[in-house]
Amino acid sequence: MDVTRPDVVVIGAGFAGLSAAVRLTRQGARVLVLEARARLGGRATAFPDRETGELVDNGQHILMGCYTETFAFLRDIGAQDNVRIDPQLAVTMIDRAGRRTCLSCPALPAPLHLAAGVLEWDALSWRDRWSMLGMATPLRNARRELAGGTVKASSPDETVDNWLIRNGQTPRLRELLWDPLALAALNQLPAHAAAPPFARVLAEMFSDDPRAAAIALPTKPLHLMYAEPARDYIERHGGGVRTGAAATIVLNAAGDAIEGVRAGGVTIAAHRVIASVPWFALDQLFDAEPPALSGVLDRARRMASSPIVTVNLWFDRRVLDLPLIGLPGRAMQWVFDKRVVLGDESSHLSLVSSGAAEILAETNIELVHRAHGELLDALPRVRGARLVNATVIREPRATFSLAPGQPARPSTVTGVRGLLLAGDWIDTGLPATIESAVRSGHRAADAALGDRVIW
Ligand SMILES: Cc1cc2nc3c(=O)[nH]c(=O)nc-3n(C[C@H](O)[C@H](O)[C@H](O)COP(=O)(O)OP(=O)(O)OC[C@H]3O[C@@H](n4cnc5c(N)ncnc54)[C@H](O)[C@@H]3O)c2cc1C
Repeated sequence: MDVTRPDVVVIGAGFAGLSAAVRLTRQGARVLVLEARARLGGRATAFPDRETGELVDNGQHILMGCYTETFAFLRDIGAQDNVRIDPQLAVTMIDRAGRRTCLSCPALPAPLHLAAGVLEWDALSWRDRWSMLGMATPLRNARRELAGGTVKASSPDETVDNWLIRNGQTPRLRELLWDPLALAALNQLPAHAAAPPFARVLAEMFSDDPRAAAIALPTKPLHLMYAEPARDYIERHGGGVRTGAAATIVLNAAGDAIEGVRAGGVTIAAHRVIASVPWFALDQLFDAEPPALSGVLDRARRMASSPIVTVNLWFDRRVLDLPLIGLPGRAMQWVFDKRVVLGDESSHLSLVSSGAAEILAETNIELVHRAHGELLDALPRVRGARLVNATVIREPRATFSLAPGQPARPSTVTGVRGLLLAGDWIDTGLPATIESAVRSGHRAADAALGDRVIW
């Protein structure tokens, strides 16, 4: 459907833009979503693989039980069954020596379930297990901080590594538990990322609900998991979603209020716009920098990015017995079996390297050798299977950097009248995740609704 007189224009069709558009649509607004690319989903999308024709994600995504607003969004668009959530946190790990163990947290109230899981974990010596108790106070403080308390769990100047060491975590417990968790949640090495966003993630994961720490995996290629269902929802309720529509914001002469949005040579009149583009694309939305936004634009330009590298391997037979296995201490930290998405006949594995700055410049052949080698090293029985196809996906700007000293993240409301910001990089307190994107989208929608006249 084409919407010529929208109440709100949303720029960008990733998790942030689509969740904002759906919330507005649910409240009766007529929304037009403009997406520059031909495909929906932004940094969480999928495309057909040239060799196999399979729909391949731009990188494996996992959700956590604590992604409350993401699950609400999926329910709103009828897509809740496109994700499979475990009952509680349970992960199998193969350490650098090839030892396979499982961290399984029982259904106790948090954070007791984590403590109980770690105390039972036979990958660790007793000294490693007891060192976990050093995190009891920081975790309690993190939970209080999340609830609005004034005591800080960590300092913005310290890295995750420093925080964990200061709290007595042994090298083995860091390597097997905290580092994989931090890398997955922050997409940055614990030696580089600041501690507060990690403390915040832990506070959300280890809340009162043991399921908050459980892993949820998409059961469909990413754009089919949420983006296309969101498009259907918006269009069925009178809104529009246009792809191939790179948008520019049109401002009044003073540059302090929205007049419309230009896309494909046409200007659409609009007084409310939600810009849900990443930090590295914000300045391209304007012909000339609006003075009221210069601080935000300057900070966005100075934000550093952190990459993710994914290597997809296809074998001549099935080789994994689990949907995911952690490979701590290796460059490729997780291996996923895509049977969850592609069905039982698939032999497609995805190996993921988060915080991948050190290997980003390697050639595709080097990366495939690395991933295959690490897989064989961890799972020698894979040697019996023949590698039949391999691809590499680099996302150099997968997430923004959380290093101490990075520019402050912007808030939803801007100094330009009618312009709201959304995106994982908005100041949600969370790292660059799906949940941060959705929370920012919902927040922007609520702000637009709060300021509506009538629609
Ligand atoms: C490989 C990879 C793995 C990841 N793994 C996880 C994970 O396991 N768990 C997790 O929670 N998070 C993960 N993330 C992070 C997650 O994907 C992002 O936080 C989230 O998708 C960001 O959504 P967004 O809507 O804020 O931004 P984006 O998805 O970047 O969407 C912004 C959209 O705006 C569009 N756009 C830009 N400029 C314009 C313009 N001028 N006009 C119109 N459209 C425009 C872009 O094309 C894009 O589609 C991962 C990211 C990557 C890359």
